[in-house]
Amino acid sequence: HPIPVVTVDGPSGAGKGTLSSLLAEKLKWHFLDSGAIYRVLAVATLHHDLPNDDEESIVPLATGLDVSFETDGDKPRIILEGEDVTDDIRTEQVGSVASKVAALPRVREALLRRQRAFQQSPGLVADGRDMGTVVFPDAIIKIFLTASAEARAQRRYGQLKAKGMDVNIARLLTDIKARDERDTHRSVAPLIPAEDAIIIDSTSLDIEQVFEKAMEVISSRL
Ligand code: C5P
Repeated sequence: HPIPVVTVDGPSGAGKGTLSSLLAEKLKWHFLDSGAIYRVLAVATLHHDLPNDDEESIVPLATGLDVSFETDGDKPRIILEGEDVTDDIRTEQVGSVASKVAALPRVREALLRRQRAFQQSPGLVADGRDMGTVVFPDAIIKIFLTASAEARAQRRYGQLKAKGMDVNIARLLTDIKARDERDTHRSVAPLIPAEDAIIIDSTSLDIEQVFEKAMEVISSRL
């Protein structure tokens, strides 16, 4: 039997990260935060001063990306070229650059193998935009988690505020809509539910309710 994969795709701020890590914890499976890989690549392009659309230079950077995900200890850390970038990759600026480099077809191609390497026993929960459509088309369960742009902006606002960051909600909403637009309309791996995806709309659900729904689906198929 192949190693089972559960994919969780959807737009930014729908709660994919929280849901996926809860599922991975519950199932005791591995966890892939594919967005973090694009974000780390974005930080690397900023370090190297590369324009967002310079596919020729970004492809080799993606292929050779020296990134590691340290899971031991109480908090998972992300290390780029020996430097802890766990917090740096979460800014809106990095998210925006990530969605630009993620629109380059050969960059996505270059990151495929790295993502598939996370499929390890006893199973994997993979969080992203194209986990069910492109990276793990044979996943046993595909969840597409969505929510209105307003609800997502509101949640992001709460998270950033809690971290003591100075944020403007109107600006967040504009950024979220721009990112959705780029992610949905790009030519490669656009953000769309897989044909066999189960769609969960979290606009008026809290995280426990989303988790319950997802676990119901997973339990019925495992
Ligand atoms: O999920 P997160 O907001 O961390 O992802 C950052 C950006 O990386 C997204 O806006 C998207 O453009 C890109 N991404 C992607 N494919 C994935 C995960 C993320 O294109 N599987």
